[in-house]
Amino acid sequence: MISISSECLRAIEQDAANCYPYECCGLLLGFDRSGPNSELTNSIATATNHANSFDITDAKAGPTPEKLSVRTITLVIPAVNRREEAIRRRRFSIEPEDFLKAELAASEKNLSVVGIYHSHPDHQARPSANDLAQAWPFFSYLIVAVDNGQVGFPTSWRLNDDRKSYTQEQVLVTPEADQNLCPKDSD
Ligand SMILES: [Zn+2]
Repeated sequence: MISISSECLRAIEQDAANCYPYECCGLLLGFDRSGPNSELTNSIATATNHANSFDITDAKAGPTPEKLSVRTITLVIPAVNRREEAIRRRRFSIEPEDFLKAELAASEKNLSVVGIYHSHPDHQARPSANDLAQAWPFFSYLIVAVDNGQVGFPTSWRLNDDRKSYTQEQVLVTPEADQNLCPKDSD
């Protein structure tokens, strides 16, 4: 399960719309909490649940969503899609320095880089074969379809240990005021 603030989701939607008809991309910052009985799970149970309408019946077998850590996204950092224009409608690439900037921003805020978002212009919000080839373990891959300029609700995916398939994560959108989801400073 991945929980994202409505503010972060708006930033992704805006980036996807601005980049259309090319793919947008960026980094997702946040934190993980494990276990079905964590206080976070209880908090997000009351959050707005946007059920997504994508058919997941052909998702490959993997750990059940309950076994994945609960992941919360509190900050989104858009990146420049460095792919050449001829293939930018179907591919994205994030430069190492953009990752570095995101890592620095994350450590300043007691967060981690926990995923990558990108858009699929005029294409369904499911990972492509190329996405699979590029994916890393641990990260959440959040995808928004942009259909004729209209941004759809995101799907999110985590690479399974076999590195050949994904588990789809449920996406929850939380109100901006839900600041109790943020981690406390450790000092
Ligand atoms: Zn993709």
